[in-house]
Amino acid sequence: MIPTSLDWCQKQDSTDPLREIRDRFDLPGGVIYMDGNSLGPSPRGVAERLAHVVAEEWRTDLIKSWNTADWINLPSRVGAQIAPLIGAGPDEVIMADSTSVNIFKAAAAACRMNPGRTEILSEPGNFPTDLYMLQGLADFLGPEYHLRTVERTEIKDAISDKTAVVLLTHVHYVTADMFDMADITEAAHAKGALMVWDLSHSTGAVPVDLGRANADFAVGCGYKYLNGGPGAPAFIYVARRHLETARQPLSGWFGHQSPFDFKDEFEPASDIRRMLVGTTSVLAASAFESALKAFEGVDMRVVRQKSLALTDLFIALVRERLSEFNLGIVTPEKHSNRGSHVSLSFAEGYAVMQALIDRGVIGDFRAPNYMRFGFTPLYLGFEDVYRAVEILEDILRTDAWKDSRYKAKSSVT
Ligand SMILES: *Cc1c(COP(=O)(O)O)cnc(C)c1O
Repeated sequence: MIPTSLDWCQKQDSTDPLREIRDRFDLPGGVIYMDGNSLGPSPRGVAERLAHVVAEEWRTDLIKSWNTADWINLPSRVGAQIAPLIGAGPDEVIMADSTSVNIFKAAAAACRMNPGRTEILSEPGNFPTDLYMLQGLADFLGPEYHLRTVERTEIKDAISDKTAVVLLTHVHYVTADMFDMADITEAAHAKGALMVWDLSHSTGAVPVDLGRANADFAVGCGYKYLNGGPGAPAFIYVARRHLETARQPLSGWFGHQSPFDFKDEFEPASDIRRMLVGTTSVLAASAFESALKAFEGVDMRVVRQKSLALTDLFIALVRERLSEFNLGIVTPEKHSNRGSHVSLSFAEGYAVMQALIDRGVIGDFRAPNYMRFGFTPLYLGFEDVYRAVEILEDILRTDAWKDSRYKAKSSVT
């Protein structure tokens, strides 16, 4: 039995080894933020850093800042900051583009490294952009290529000598169901396929060890658990053993071995920079670089322990207090299969979530009927979880969610 009393929650908060990390964030008052899996909040210092970049590096120093402020190396610097969070070497990760674009680049590079194999494998219900980008890639590569989607329990058996690349999202964006990364990667390699992991819902929330899992490629999101800011650049990982052979088709000048030689012929950089395309979005990258300081000295094993304790508490409270409302808990109970968010299915989930947001409990809604709650151990406490369920209970018990103003859907859910 998991203790669920307010007393217990307060005691957990007072002995929480991460409690001081909360001060690294600039959260508004009156809010229990449970959507850090969709848009991380602003870490302290980011606004000031951004103001400095605009006022000094851009306004005053103008174009000199590419050298004097080392803008040119922002992608590598941010990549190196992310590396320890995903079990990668600093030379294996680079900040670039969006996750969608990086999916294309990684999967295309993998297909090229595996000629003669024409199947791209993923799972139905993967995050839409992952499937859309893979569909686009298969179409682009030609009629012999196709995207095949297979239920997650059958993936390992479905990998064959036709499979060029398997692309999966480590933690599922709705259910938080988490793959065994090493196990699936091994199965892919056993059949000669290459493996791309999408870490969008993992990085900064659960420990990831790409090196130990022997992954080939990975991509991930900057604006979720990494708190890089709205629309922050993403990252891409290439295993060191592939750095000389991986070629991605968006061969822009930032991926060139020596961009400022202005040669006509493309020659890929000899290192991870070959995954770059064009000019870095310096303001966004600067915000991201500053935001990543929130992870300094943070042990991901401690984060994981607290994340599991928070999701355990939430699930236990939902069971204990809300059983009569027929909420479906779609997130796995088993710790080894659970990421860092919990989704509840409820037919009127959209309206309930709007009522929650109105009362300061910010989660989100995913079609067709999932209320999603993110648990970010760096700033969410046990009492926060207790209060969130208390408010959810009140909304359900009083039918507050039936108010017509909670029904109208905004364009972003
Ligand atoms: C959030 C997310 C993305 C986001 O892609 P963008 O290109 O940043 O819009 C991609 N894949 C997964 C699995 C995600 O969770």
